[in-house]
Amino acid sequence: MKENRYSRQILLPEIGPEGQKKLGKARAVVIGCGALGTHALSFLVRAGVGQVVVIDRDIIDISNLQRQALFTEADVGRPKAKVAEERLRHVNSDIEIWGVVADVNYTNVQKFVRGAAVVLDATDNMDTRFLVNDACVKNRIPWVYAGAVGVTGMVMAIVPGGPCMRCVFPQLPQPGELPTCDTVGIINTLPSAVASIETTEAFKIILGKEPSNGLFVLDLWQGELQRIKVKRNPECETCGKRDFEFLQARKRKLVVSMCGRNAVQIVPTKELKGDLKDLKDTLSRQGEASIVDGVLKFKKRGVELTVFPDGRTIISGTTDLAKAKTIFSQYVGD
Ligand SMILES: [Zn+2]
Repeated sequence: MKENRYSRQILLPEIGPEGQKKLGKARAVVIGCGALGTHALSFLVRAGVGQVVVIDRDIIDISNLQRQALFTEADVGRPKAKVAEERLRHVNSDIEIWGVVADVNYTNVQKFVRGAAVVLDATDNMDTRFLVNDACVKNRIPWVYAGAVGVTGMVMAIVPGGPCMRCVFPQLPQPGELPTCDTVGIINTLPSAVASIETTEAFKIILGKEPSNGLFVLDLWQGELQRIKVKRNPECETCGKRDFEFLQARKRKLVVSMCGRNAVQIVPTKELKGDLKDLKDTLSRQGEASIVDGVLKFKKRGVELTVFPDGRTIISGTTDLAKAKTIFSQYVGD
C-alpha cells in the first residue's frame, strides 16, 4: 500500500521518481503554524518531504478555526505546533515531523533555519519576516515569503544571489501601517490558495529547479493573479551590504498584540524565577491553574493566562497592552 503513496505525483514529469527521492531527503522549515502554516504543512507532509519542522509560539484560539486547517474545537487552548505535529504524524508516518513551541527571535532564528533545503514563511508579522530574511540571506538558505490578509495575498521565492525581501520592502513598516487580520479580517479561502503557490515554489527549490522570479500578488475576490518583476537592489542593507541588523541583539519588543486574537503576548526581560511548577503552586492558591503540554494555564474571573517555560506569557481576553502588563505583573512577575 505504502509504495502507492506518492504514485500520483511521481507520474508528473515535474517530479518523477528522481524528484520524489529529492523530496524524501529534504528538510523544510515552516515558521508559523496559523492559516498559511497549517496548509503548507499539510502539502509538505503529504508530498513526502523527509523532514518537516514547524515553529510556532501560540496556542489555538476559537477564532483560528475559521481558516486554520488541522485544528478542531477540542484543540482550543493547546499549542499549535504540538497539535499540528500530532495530526501530521497520522497523515504520514514515513517522514520525520517536529513541532517546536517557541517564539522565533534573533537569539534562535539561525539555529532553526540551519540545515533547511527551504524555509517557508507562515508568520503574521513583518518583524519576524525581516528576521528570517536576514538569517536566510546570511546563511545562503532559500526561503519563500508569503502573506495573506483580507482577500489578497503575496508570495515571493528568495534564493541566494537573487533579490531578497528587503530589496522589495527596504524598511520595516511602522506599527499600524499595514493591514492585519486583526484590523481587516481574512476570507478563509485565501490561505490555502497562497500556501499552494508558496509550497509549489518550495517544491521547485527542493527539486533543484528555478523558482518563479518576482512577487506574486493574488486578489482572490477579483480573481486576479499577477507576478511583478523584482530587481536586486545593490544598496540593499541585507543582500547588498550584508548588514544583518535584525540578527543583532535589539531591545526586545516586550508587549505585542497578537494578530487575529483577542490576546497580548509579553516576553519578559528576565527568565522565570523557579520553574512552571513553582508558579503553578503559587497561582493555584488564587485561581484555577494546571500544566498541560508543558505550558501553564491559569484562569481567574475573566483573566486567562498561558505561561511558557521561558516566562513568555499570553494574556487572553484583552488587546489593551497596559491592562495586559498589569495582569502579567500581578500573577507572573515584573
Ligand atoms: Zn536585498
